[in-house]
Amino acid sequence: MKIAVMIKQVPDSKLIEIDENGNLRRDGVPAMVDPFGFFGLEFAVKMKKELGGTITVITMGPNQAVEALQRCLEYGADDAVLLSDRAFAGSDTYATSRTLAQSVSDGDYDYVVCGMQATDGDTGQVPAEISAMLGYGLVSYATDLEIVDGRLIIKQNYGDLIRKVVAPKGTVISVSREIQDRKQFPTIRDRLDSKNKTIITKDRVALNLGVFSTGMKGSFTKVVRTATPIPVKKRTITVDGSDPDVGAEELLKEVGM
Ligand code: FAD
Repeated sequence: MKIAVMIKQVPDSKLIEIDENGNLRRDGVPAMVDPFGFFGLEFAVKMKKELGGTITVITMGPNQAVEALQRCLEYGADDAVLLSDRAFAGSDTYATSRTLAQSVSDGDYDYVVCGMQATDGDTGQVPAEISAMLGYGLVSYATDLEIVDGRLIIKQNYGDLIRKVVAPKGTVISVSREIQDRKQFPTIRDRLDSKNKTIITKDRVALNLGVFSTGMKGSFTKVVRTATPIPVKKRTITVDGSDPDVGAEELLKEVGM
């Protein structure tokens, strides 16, 4: 069983700032593994516990993203791949997904696990795009799993609907929330073991991708304008509930009824 987990390195969400042009300030801001990708890794670790196999963690990013991969190796991934090339700069979600999909297109991987979104770009498009590009099935909003008669059953939470589906080999899984038995901290042993695991780097040529398939040249999105949303002021009212009838009247008046 081979599981690929897609993780993204993002600016630390507690420290991000927006510059005067409304763009995310990335320089000098400490980076971290995107929490949703981390949930994906935790999900894959549970899959491995139940089904055996190996976990390869993959990211597309600059050289410094190797730190995020190293962290994932401490948390249970077996090896890692960094997809890095100047030609990948300016990738929109399509070009990002194309590059990520190509890295697992040899048919070697039984499952590809992603976070359902990422805390910076936050489009939630990448998992579905990868599944379409690979011709894999897609199971979104995964929150837990179990094995029944040797089959992988995934619990999905759609907010208003919880259901369980069978996920055969050849499925992309996007994980929406951490599973319950997460590993809180890597031990010193985990940290030491992770140093013996391999991280390989692949560029555009190693991925066998043409110049017009990646980065700005491989992107369909054209940014016309960016703007910072104007914060909406929220108003709070307190209704005295000691007389429920009067309180209810007041509430109805408030909502215009
Ligand atoms: P989502 O779809 O919300 O993420 C869902 C899941 O997909 C993640 O949890 C993770 O599992 C997986 N995933 C997403 N991205 C990656 C990744 N990189 N590696 C591994 N797994 C991943 N961003 C830049 O950093 N540099 C640029 O130069 C750049 N140029 C851009 C130019 C344009 C015109 C546009 C529109 C966007 C650009 N972006 C750039 C943003 C970039 O397209 C997104 O970061 C990327 O497509 C992922 O989108 P998302 O964050 O919405 O991911």
